[in-house]
Amino acid sequence: MGLLLKNGWVMNHQGKGIQIDVLLKGDRVHKLGKGFPEDHHQVIDCEGKWVLPGFIDMHVHLREPGFEHKETIESGTRAAAKGGFTTIACMPNTKPVLDAAEQIQSIHDQAKRVGAVNVLPIGAITQRQLGETLCDFEAMQRVGIVAVSDDGVGVQSAGKMKEAMSQAAKLGLPVVAHCEDNSLIQGGCVHDGAYAQTHGLRGIPSECEAVHIARDILLAEQTGVHYHVCHISTKESVRLVREAKHNGIPVTAEVTPHHLLLSENDIPGLDPNFKMNPPLRSEEDRQALIEGLLDGTIDFIATDHAPHAQEEKEMGMERAPFGIVGLETAFPLLYTHLVQKGLLTLKALIDKLTRVPAERFNLARGTLREGAIADITIVDLELEQSINPRDFASKGQNTPFTNWTCQGWPTMTIVNGQVVWSTERGIEQQSQEGVVNHD
Ligand SMILES: [Zn+2]
Repeated sequence: MGLLLKNGWVMNHQGKGIQIDVLLKGDRVHKLGKGFPEDHHQVIDCEGKWVLPGFIDMHVHLREPGFEHKETIESGTRAAAKGGFTTIACMPNTKPVLDAAEQIQSIHDQAKRVGAVNVLPIGAITQRQLGETLCDFEAMQRVGIVAVSDDGVGVQSAGKMKEAMSQAAKLGLPVVAHCEDNSLIQGGCVHDGAYAQTHGLRGIPSECEAVHIARDILLAEQTGVHYHVCHISTKESVRLVREAKHNGIPVTAEVTPHHLLLSENDIPGLDPNFKMNPPLRSEEDRQALIEGLLDGTIDFIATDHAPHAQEEKEMGMERAPFGIVGLETAFPLLYTHLVQKGLLTLKALIDKLTRVPAERFNLARGTLREGAIADITIVDLELEQSINPRDFASKGQNTPFTNWTCQGWPTMTIVNGQVVWSTERGIEQQSQEGVVNHD
């Protein structure tokens, strides 16, 4: 007995849609073709929909342990499933910080118990993310991490970063960097630009990020580590990564949907749902990010899903925490505002949410072909809905995209061959067990 996805559109190598049936058996894609006997299988009618590789998000905050009022592994992975994501990497800035093997193990255990999708933990670079003492990367790697990062804060000491990169290079672990030089932040809460001036707010200058990236690129060149830039946001940063790649330095970068779609000009009044780190930059920066995504300087898209409780976000622009949710709105927003507007092809968008992150982080996922792991997202490109945070599976409702009308909503998510979520049935209960697979 398999799962037969009938008559959906599958994308070929040229980016063209072909109408074909997909037969899943166990946790694998068994066959692509036509004319499979229906009586042996559970049949799902995919007429008019696209059958795509499951989306991968390498930058998610699940908030557990320590901040369960913001999100839990259960609610965060349900949000992922609803957004069409089948694999997410979770950042270590929890409480306690994921800085030792036992913390990593407990994420795996909890994800296995209640997770709706695959969860890949990222271990911290320094103990308690204080930037002082390196974590035991090897011990964390033994229990399964995909990378190390002090996301949420930049590693301030160049010496410490070099030490971390040398260690990580030996183990073949990517260093995933939040780039922010604390000596340049000056207590800023938004981009140091026109919006900050108009509203009399302190700004975070672009060089705060770019200076850090420049330093790290030189260190990556020295150590040979795979250096990955988180949530790139400025034109200077894009230029630096472009030059580094040109010079053969092993650098990759990600960009968020909100930095691709919004600039400081779009912030209405003093709404903290538009407050994130890095901040929404200038329109010129936004254009540079789109250009960087198109020419391959920026490798892929990640949401930086960062849920906060409503009362925390209501504390005003200066005091509210940084961050917005992103898992449940990423694909429809990007499809509607990049693909439909002709800025990006559908194939490029899919690649940047599936194949490319998988390749860069050596995950055996991200493609739809015979023999591959059956992580699949079914999307209705015609389906139009407006974004209502009250519908989110995430505990966080902090989004700047409320009431935006988008097309291209996921309708079913399949992880390791099992339907974990669908528009008809919501979260499937069988997802409660054993869908987690550690790459
Ligand atoms: Zn983050």
